[in-house]
Amino acid sequence: MGGIISSNKKKSTDFSPEATKAPINLLIAGAPAAGKGTQSEILRDKYRVVHISTGELLRAAVEAKSELGLKVKHYMENALLVPDDLIIDVVCERLNQQDCRENGWLLDGFPRTEAQAKALAKAGLVPDCFIMINVPESFVLERITGRRVDPVTGNTYHIKFNPPPEGEVADRVIQRSDDTEEKIVKRYSDFTANIDAIKSFYQEVTLHVDGTKHKEDVQSQIAVKLNEIQEKKQEGK
Ligand code: AMP
Repeated sequence: MGGIISSNKKKSTDFSPEATKAPINLLIAGAPAAGKGTQSEILRDKYRVVHISTGELLRAAVEAKSELGLKVKHYMENALLVPDDLIIDVVCERLNQQDCRENGWLLDGFPRTEAQAKALAKAGLVPDCFIMINVPESFVLERITGRRVDPVTGNTYHIKFNPPPEGEVADRVIQRSDDTEEKIVKRYSDFTANIDAIKSFYQEVTLHVDGTKHKEDVQSQIAVKLNEIQEKKQEGK
């Protein structure tokens, strides 16, 4: 399935100015439907980082009925966190591959537990910025019912706020099986518990953004900070 781990190998042409600067390593976190997927797509295209979404990665494994997929299926279907030992090595190995080292990475949906945060640190995988998209639960509930995913590219849409392009994409988008109201309430409370367990690891590099704003506004809040980070890296500070 495309768009799951999207590698944007740098070519000499079609760079955005941001992509020509020092590569950056990012973590992005937020409650389900906070806009992580949308912001990640923009960041991936703008900064040419390798986008790794653990939710997408695991859903693809389930769909492919791989060894990992068979092991995690039950957890995924019940909106439970997959055990740390099944996901940690997969993520650390991926981040150590050459494209991530050269282009920088954007990790979405990981770490979700203290053990995962510790494993990242132990592997020397240190983010330049921990982007935390804040939204209240009421907002999440309203947004989730309209969320749709393109099974071919992995891109996410919202029928009201970010509709899929008319035609082929609009016809093939689907609703995720864990996007029901009952499951979302559970996923929201799991999210708040998980974030509490990991946020102390990233206090010094955390950027809080208001996820209730329009996607362009959210992106601007992020861009200001990332620009600052890139400038500092460029200067070797
Ligand atoms: P997401 O698309 O990020 O909401 O993730 C969907 C599902 O994938 C979660 O409900 C978990 O079952 C599983 N999952 C994703 N990332 C992780 C992770 N870092 N640790 C454990 N389970 C995960």
